[in-house]
Amino acid sequence: MSKLKLGAMLLLAFMIGGAAVGGVFAAMHSGEEVRVAAQRLEDGRVEVAVQQKQADGSWGERLLPELRFVPAAAPTGSWLVSSAVQTIAPQSAMTGASATAEAVQDDGQQEQPEQDAGAPQGPPPDEMTEIAPGVYHFWGSTYSSLVVISGDDVLISDPSTPLRVPGIKAKIAEVTDNPVNMIVLTHEHYDHAGGTEEFPDATLYVQEQALPVFDLMALAPKPDVDQTFDKFLSIPVGDTVVELHYLGPGDGDATTIIWMPNEGVIHTADMYEPRALTGAAWVDDKNFAGVHKILNELSTWDIKYAINGHSPGNSIDALAENTAYYNDLYDAVINTINETVEANPGNPFAIFGLLGTIRELVQLPQYSDWANYDTAFPAHVWRMFMSIFHGD
Ligand SMILES: [Zn+2]
Repeated sequence: MSKLKLGAMLLLAFMIGGAAVGGVFAAMHSGEEVRVAAQRLEDGRVEVAVQQKQADGSWGERLLPELRFVPAAAPTGSWLVSSAVQTIAPQSAMTGASATAEAVQDDGQQEQPEQDAGAPQGPPPDEMTEIAPGVYHFWGSTYSSLVVISGDDVLISDPSTPLRVPGIKAKIAEVTDNPVNMIVLTHEHYDHAGGTEEFPDATLYVQEQALPVFDLMALAPKPDVDQTFDKFLSIPVGDTVVELHYLGPGDGDATTIIWMPNEGVIHTADMYEPRALTGAAWVDDKNFAGVHKILNELSTWDIKYAINGHSPGNSIDALAENTAYYNDLYDAVINTINETVEANPGNPFAIFGLLGTIRELVQLPQYSDWANYDTAFPAHVWRMFMSIFHGD
């Protein structure tokens, strides 16, 4: 049997098995829909991933199990299993939502028995790590929150959803009996701004451009905003201070940089991922020229710990790497625009000719090993092009 046929059989077997496991689990536990994605690699292996259907009906970013490669020489008639991945259930199904897919060991040596496949696991436990005195990085359900506990004050960022709030409250209760009395948001998107209603006595601070967006929200409860700011707001929190900076649109209109100057702690969301391109489904509301500007400005700040919206741990390296990525993308797109303008002197509409070609003209193969490059990079090129030349 040729490697191609063998691989195709394995792939088919995997897709059926994985889809069945995911589907059964989803039906039993949450109603969330997942599907299995797979791609053949040049060396003959097949790489597998899981995607989850989003609230808008699109398919989310591919979740990559650590063990996810079907070896080219895998035996026939034998199920292989991947390591588990956690899916995110944004609203009703968030608690306990998990899907596992069958896949494989990448060395072909250590197959796991079939009965291991698809054993549901709960989401990773919430973590709250002290990153500076009284300053914590809360990580739960793949969302980050800043938690500051100082004096009688307790400030949090981005509750995200009511389903995530009990975990935040439980972790805070391990440190203080004081209630959350201040909430700040990284931006207006519902999956970060949700859950504020669980803290009716807390003061909610947001950048003012979130308000007209909140007015249009048809589904999630509208956050009950107490105080807005334009460019800058400094909030005393016990013995320290939390600053809110608006540097322009980034992800959404009300992109806010949360900054603790005394501690060198920064918190942003949805502007970069570690070694991954933001999935194509999530870039439509992202001003790429704005993200380029913001990341470059942040690169001059003396940051010791960077909380990213969807990354555990200190993402300061990812911040630096993504600044380089956005610089390369910006330069590549604007150089292509300038070449077109210079080749068509006196024709201000020549740039329109790039509408159908810009996605193919710009490539950055040095980032092709970043997750989502193949699927998301054309969308990144498009959004950078539109942000530069069209202003959004
Ligand atoms: Zn967002």
